[in-house]
Amino acid sequence: SSKPEEVVLIGGHLDSWDLGTGAIDDAAGIGITMAAAKLIGDLPQHPARTIRVVAFANEEQGLYGGKAYAAAHADEITAHQIAAESDFGAGRVYGYSSSAPAHAQAAGRQIAQALAPLGIKHMPGTGGPGPDISPFAAQGLAWARLSQDGTD
Ligand SMILES: [Zn+2]
Repeated sequence: SSKPEEVVLIGGHLDSWDLGTGAIDDAAGIGITMAAAKLIGDLPQHPARTIRVVAFANEEQGLYGGKAYAAAHADEITAHQIAAESDFGAGRVYGYSSSAPAHAQAAGRQIAQALAPLGIKHMPGTGGPGPDISPFAAQGLAWARLSQDGTD
């Protein structure tokens, strides 16, 4: 609403292992991020930044969708404030971490405080970008990670 040129990217990937059903990897991730976008869209106050939901193609065969996104948007990398993806099933989220730069650490702590009542621990220095956003993260895009219980 006030910074539409700035992008927060969330997503997952549409393909699956060819011997699996694809329900967990990664239909769950697509469902989680689409539902997040719906919830954000239903808020009475629209977010300041553009929320871009990306259903990446063909992660399992070589990150082709993530690589194509990074190439197509290379000149917009500074417009992307942070990116996150869901690619580890539909289990409970237990941790939050990010690669946000030093000037954004206060915002990261605010996110961690908002997640704490849900039983989600702040786990700075752990994790990494998911696979779909890794080609863009390799160019410097900040990532956020919600670690999920993958027991099942
Ligand atoms: Zn996957």
